[in-house]
Amino acid sequence: MIYKQFKDKQLSLLGFGAMRLPTEGKNKIDMAHSSKMVQKALESGINYFDTAWGYHGGQSEIALGEILSKYDRDSFYLASKFPGYDVANFEKKEEIFQKQLEKCKVDYFDFYLCHNVNERNVDMFMDEKYSTVEYLLKQKELGKIKHLGFSAHGNMPVLKKFLAKYGQHMEFCQLQINYVDWTWQKADQKVQLCNKYNIPVWVMEPLRGGNLARLDQQRKEKISSVTGVGAIESAFRFLCSIDSVGMILSGMSTLEQLEENVKYFQQQNLLTNQQFDQVVAVGKSMIEKTPCTGCNYCVDYCPQKLDISRLMKLNNEHFFAPNDYWTNYAIGNLPQEKQPACCIACRSCEQVCPQQIEISKELAEFANRIKKAQN
Ligand code: SF4
Ligand code: SF4
Repeated sequence: MIYKQFKDKQLSLLGFGAMRLPTEGKNKIDMAHSSKMVQKALESGINYFDTAWGYHGGQSEIALGEILSKYDRDSFYLASKFPGYDVANFEKKEEIFQKQLEKCKVDYFDFYLCHNVNERNVDMFMDEKYSTVEYLLKQKELGKIKHLGFSAHGNMPVLKKFLAKYGQHMEFCQLQINYVDWTWQKADQKVQLCNKYNIPVWVMEPLRGGNLARLDQQRKEKISSVTGVGAIESAFRFLCSIDSVGMILSGMSTLEQLEENVKYFQQQNLLTNQQFDQVVAVGKSMIEKTPCTGCNYCVDYCPQKLDISRLMKLNNEHFFAPNDYWTNYAIGNLPQEKQPACCIACRSCEQVCPQQIEISKELAEFANRIKKAQN
C-alpha cells in the first residue's frame, strides 16, 4: 500500500468510502459483506475510513461504527462530516455532533469535515449566528476532532470565500477530482487554490461514480493508448500524479471492487507530464455533446430567461453520465422555471449562437432524458 505523510500520520493513499456499502434492500446495509470488506481493507493496509451523517440515510455511520468497534481504535482513522448540505442542520450542530460520536462508537473523530460547502450554504457556514466552524474548532481543542477540513462541490467563488475566512483553520479539503472534472468542474483551479493555502486535497469520486470504470470500448481504448494500462488504473494514476493529493477515497460496494482497487495502490506509478495532459484532453472529449463555450450571447434573447450556458453544461454532463449523483443534484436544484422543459422553442437564442447549436432541440432532448430517468 502506498502511504502519504499527513502531519504526524501515515495515511494509506487509498481510503475506504462508506457511501456505497453493499445493501440488502434500500438502506439496509449488508453487515456480513461490509464486515468482510473492512477486514480485507485493514489487512491490505487501508487505514482511512470515511463516512457521513447522510450516507445510506444515516445508516453508514452506524454500520461502520459497529464494524470498526471490533478493532483497536489505533488501527484506523475515522472521518465523518457535519451535514451542512441541509441548512436546517445548522441549528442542531451540537446535537448532531454528539449523536455522530455515539453512532460511530468513538470518543473522537480523527478527521472531521464541513460537508459539501456550496453556493446555497456557504453563507450559513460563515454566519456567526451559527458559529459552526468555531464550534468544531472547540471540539478540536477538546480532542474530539483531531483534524478539521471541508468538502466542497461549490464553484470557485464559493471556495475562495470560505477559504478567505477559514483557510488558516482548514487542514485538508475534499474535492471531486478525476480526469474529466479536472477541467469540467475546474478541479485544476480548485487544487491550485488549496495549494496557495498549503492545504492538501482529498479526492472524492475518483471514478466519477463508477462511470470512468464503465467506459465504452472506444473510450477505454483511447485512454489506454495514452497510459498503457486499463481504464481504472489510468484514472488512479492520473490522481496519484497530482502532488498535493493526500487521499483518494473510493466508495466501494463489493469485496471484488475493493480487491481490484487495492491492486492499483501497491506502488506509485505516475504519468509523465505529457501523458497527464493527454489524459485531460481525453476527459474533455468525453463530455462534449454540444460545443457551448459559455459566451452567454444567447441569454438576453431568451424570453424564458433560461440560463442557457449552464443548461448546455448540465446537458453534456447528463448525457455522459445520466445516473451521476451530483449532476442530478445540480439539475434538481434548478428552480422550476429554469428547468430545460421551460424552453418554448422560440429559437431566438439560436440566431445569435456563434457555435450554431440547435439549443431548442438540445433542451427538448435533455428534458426528455430527465423525464425518462425519473420514471
Ligand atoms: S429556444 Fe428556448 S432557450 Fe432559446 S430563447 Fe427560446 S425559450 Fe429560450
Ligand atoms: S450563445 Fe451558444 S455557445 Fe454561447 S452560451 Fe449560448 S449556447 Fe453556449
